[in-house]
Amino acid sequence: MKEKGLLIVLSGPSGVGKGTVRKEIFSQPDVKFEYSISMTTRAPRTGEVDGIDYFFKSREEFEQLIAEGKLLEYAEFVGNYYGTPVDYVRETLDAGRDIFLEIEVQGAQQVREKFPEGLFIFLAPPSLSELHSRILTRGTESDEVIKGRMEKARKEIEMMNLYDYVVENDEVEKACSRIQSIIVAEHCRRERV
Ligand code: 5GP
Repeated sequence: MKEKGLLIVLSGPSGVGKGTVRKEIFSQPDVKFEYSISMTTRAPRTGEVDGIDYFFKSREEFEQLIAEGKLLEYAEFVGNYYGTPVDYVRETLDAGRDIFLEIEVQGAQQVREKFPEGLFIFLAPPSLSELHSRILTRGTESDEVIKGRMEKARKEIEMMNLYDYVVENDEVEKACSRIQSIIVAEHCRRERV
């Protein structure tokens, strides 16, 4: 029987640059995995094409898809729905090809529950770990400010622990090549048996 493909999830906090990194990865000529085009209820931005960037849906259509179980995961983000069509993911994996999802953190958690064997990569802002230790050691800010910063940092760091790998997005090209190396390494690790 043919080996199943690898489900690859790239996620991370909002504003970290997931979309930029994903576009850079898919602009490479030798990319060997499929991209899972998401559905969204947000309006297309200038230059975005239905069926390439997203499948653009109305709220009613999206809720219908949820009700019919057509989404592997979905989340509401800044007032719009975003979700991953389940059929394409399953067909691609069954055909032995890898599929790449670029989604926000709530959705990634849902995918983890359904596909614990997936490869989960967290894209981190470059200064997060540094920020964390600085907050702990500095002690010059008011308790309130420290508390707020610690809380935010802690939540993001906790999220990181749910992932197989953390990639720092210090430079887009570096982040992309790290992600590609992780995928190659993951194949070597899984296929040795
Ligand atoms: P944007 O509106 O900037 O294209 O995307 C907003 C956020 O939604 C980004 O963090 C992006 O990663 C996330 N996103 C895109 N597609 C999906 C999806 O199918 N599911 C989930 N949960 N998040 C998504």
